[in-house]
Amino acid sequence: MPDQHVPAYRAPATVFADRHIGPDEVERAVMLEAVGYGSTAELMAAAVPSSILSAPGAPAALGLPEPASETEALAELRALADTNQVLVSMIGQGYYDTVVPPVILRNIMENPAWYTAYTPYQPEISQGRLEALLNFQTMVADLTGLPVSGASLLDEATAAAEAMTLARRATKSKSASFVVDSNVFGQTLAVLRTRAEPLGIDVVVADLSDGLPEGDIFGVLVQYPAASGEVRDPRPLIEAAHERGALAVVAADILALTVLTSPGGLGADIAVGSTQRFGVPMGFGGPHAGYMSVREGLQRQLPGRLVGVSVDAAGNPAYRLALQTREQHIRREKATSNICTAQVLLANMAGMYAVYHGPRGLRAIAERVHSRAVLLAAGLRSAGVEVLTDAFFDTLRVRVPGWADAVVEAAREAGVNLFRVDADTVGISCDETTTSGHVALVLNAFGARVPNDAAPAAPVLPAALAREVDYLAHPVFNTHRSETSLLRYMRRLADKDLALDRTMIPLGSCTMKLNATAEMEAVTWPEFAGLHPFAPLEQAAGLVRVVRDLETWLAEVTGYDAVSLQPNAGSQGELAGLLAIREYHRSRGDAAREVCLIPSSAHGTNAASAIMAGMRVTVVACDEGGNIDLDDLRAKIAKTGDALAAIMVTYPSTHGVYEDTITEVCRLVHEGGGQVYVDGANLNALVGWAKPGEFGADVSHLNLHKTFCIPHGGGGPGVGPVAVRAHLADFLPNHPAQSEAGPYTGVGPVSAAPFGSAGILPISWAYIRMMGEEGLRAATETAVLAANYVAKRLAPHYPVLYAGTDGLVAHECIIDIRGLQKATGISNDDLTKRLIDYGFHAPTMSFPVAGTLMIEPTESEDLAELDRFVDAMVAIRAEIDRVADGSYEREDNPLKNAPHTAEALTADDWKHAYSRSEAAYPVPSLRRSKYWVPVARIDQAFGDRNLVCSCPPPEAFEE
Ligand SMILES: *Cc1c(COP(=O)(O)O)cnc(C)c1O
Repeated sequence: MPDQHVPAYRAPATVFADRHIGPDEVERAVMLEAVGYGSTAELMAAAVPSSILSAPGAPAALGLPEPASETEALAELRALADTNQVLVSMIGQGYYDTVVPPVILRNIMENPAWYTAYTPYQPEISQGRLEALLNFQTMVADLTGLPVSGASLLDEATAAAEAMTLARRATKSKSASFVVDSNVFGQTLAVLRTRAEPLGIDVVVADLSDGLPEGDIFGVLVQYPAASGEVRDPRPLIEAAHERGALAVVAADILALTVLTSPGGLGADIAVGSTQRFGVPMGFGGPHAGYMSVREGLQRQLPGRLVGVSVDAAGNPAYRLALQTREQHIRREKATSNICTAQVLLANMAGMYAVYHGPRGLRAIAERVHSRAVLLAAGLRSAGVEVLTDAFFDTLRVRVPGWADAVVEAAREAGVNLFRVDADTVGISCDETTTSGHVALVLNAFGARVPNDAAPAAPVLPAALAREVDYLAHPVFNTHRSETSLLRYMRRLADKDLALDRTMIPLGSCTMKLNATAEMEAVTWPEFAGLHPFAPLEQAAGLVRVVRDLETWLAEVTGYDAVSLQPNAGSQGELAGLLAIREYHRSRGDAAREVCLIPSSAHGTNAASAIMAGMRVTVVACDEGGNIDLDDLRAKIAKTGDALAAIMVTYPSTHGVYEDTITEVCRLVHEGGGQVYVDGANLNALVGWAKPGEFGADVSHLNLHKTFCIPHGGGGPGVGPVAVRAHLADFLPNHPAQSEAGPYTGVGPVSAAPFGSAGILPISWAYIRMMGEEGLRAATETAVLAANYVAKRLAPHYPVLYAGTDGLVAHECIIDIRGLQKATGISNDDLTKRLIDYGFHAPTMSFPVAGTLMIEPTESEDLAELDRFVDAMVAIRAEIDRVADGSYEREDNPLKNAPHTAEALTADDWKHAYSRSEAAYPVPSLRRSKYWVPVARIDQAFGDRNLVCSCPPPEAFEE
């Protein structure tokens, strides 16, 4: 037979931007027609003030590589992954290898039903992830022996810093001294120092083996087990701290707590730590869920989000976020913390790991880890090597005078990373993945061998600290032993929630755009996920390349000169940026510049971050148009005088408008000697058109979990890079364990890991790589077009607040419900709950203006979905009109009673003045596809009055 010519298979040429951007050319034409412009370029030219453009009338040029297809980008990432070397990690220091149960990896970490959800502010459509978070809280509370646990913090080091400020608030002590055990993880101490300095807190580092140092203190922090691995009894220290009126913080290893007496049992007030080793990959530093739990009486001081139990309108138990009045979006500069985005997805993974293993499984893992460490110590000792750690859980310190480097190198050649403590000392940590083979390799590196009497060595944990109190007794941790059962449990939870895999989520200021699968894929590749953050940099060459590319590309997109990817949320980027400003002033002898001007419309994190950076906040008024009041700004600058440090403005404004006065604002503040911080969370309205670093700002943070496609995970993870102009570059974050992580002149670390949540950077890398300059610009233009299209279509039905020149909004629009409420008694709460019956997630409520809804459609929603949303809003408006004209009763109507559960709709007695089908199927398409809400409207106040923050007993759900 003659040779047949078989052409090589080639994927059809697809332009990724066409997949990312929802409306196609035809749909865009329809939308442009409605908005009244001939092209998106024309629309942008009209909407964006010319003063912020890089060149007259033209969009900004971006020096980015030509876009890659999905296949090409994944091939490039694969090539980068292949340059990483994943060794067996026995470095420890807060990061341990772990087996992610495959059922959790695939069905939570890689499942858009979990990773594309938003923070559960709308509790009725978030019952699944709220239950999962309640499991997490119960797990942490049980293991730490402290009754109230939050729903995750950003990492262990920042959790320790939050505990420090909590202790200061709660004790109201006159002392500014916080004592930290010298035997604490290096990154924890470094972050404590970064955070303490601007607040005037004195971090006193001391060897606490001989008790507390003299003097007044407001708190003490000990690591348990210590960084060296030693397990010491912290009780004498805790008692001594209490005698001095100070609070005791214990940074505890969550796995060790399955076999050791809990911090609460030891008398501690606060426990902090990481839940990484509960089935969350190391990811070169993150993301993982930090935890904090507190004793009774401190719960109102807790930073971050807290899930609580309440009841719904039918009296059934239901979950929602508790004590929200602590949070920065309400308390602003008086908030307990600036934390907004936390680590929900990772907390849910850790909680599910506990559900999967149950108390006995966890204990078995801990005992096995311990037995490996015992074997290691026995082998070393029998070879005459000096083991410094007597009582330990999983970590040893070994003394090898003068040859630590040689041992570490020998181990590395055998494929194992150890921890070089100093020239004479090596640290070794065992974990869930450590095998006896690994132990043999390590012993070999010390010239030792596995002891001949292979009898299992006896545990060496101190008897006085043996855990006696049970944990995880709740049925949820004792039921789902089979994979079938766990799979269905996770599915049942996911089915209760609305995430991006079911509907658009039009949350203003949150940018709920597509998280493309091709962007997500590389995150769980072992070559990225398996790296320890303190592994030698050359083993992480591929991921470091991702970091460097992103830094370059983000500098290009923003017009700044230097970028740090270390901050692991927007709030942390804000803090880093403000600290850079503070250091800059101090470097010039301008230490008195400590006032931060913040417009009244700002995001709550801004004011909270300014306080954390040691600044005082002065509020600048906004005019009726939502713009910064320039007269008030001038007056405040004059009044502040030489104390002016900075202004923090959001651009486009939180009102969703391109203020054309922004360049004037920058000029005035610079004239007054201040620096300009532009909150770049809304960069989705600027990318490819204007660059903050060019139009007058000195520093911005960006939210990669908004504009650059990292999914929200139900409330985290996030990445909040900080970008600065050259004069601030020396003051970016750095890290004690990694000199390449930032300038040596930097302000210290703001996160535990050198490159923050490096494990998820491939997402944003892939997005930029596949979009290229044209694609990114088209995304911005389409986002602005979609917002204006929605505004235009809604305008006849709801007043649209605020517009810029030519009556255009930027990437989001605010509609005003106050007039309707006054006339009909229907509130924006009623309206958003009714949207649930239509199958939608609510827009952002009452931010930045009470009684309004802020809608951000993003570029990823196609015209059909935009229309489905607008049609729902228009139909709801018609329902409100029926309340107004009396055809619906004022108190008994589909809005007041929304959302309607299947149970309520199918109940034998239906007592309402409207029909069941009006309630369930207000638009015909719902008959074909309908989201059934699992609970009725939730009573927020009840839950705060009767605070329950762990899993309720099953009887609570019985009739
Ligand atoms: C989302 C947002 C923030 C906070 O970011 P987090 O990652 O949640 O900390 C700050 N400012 C603005 C304007 C935002 O929209």
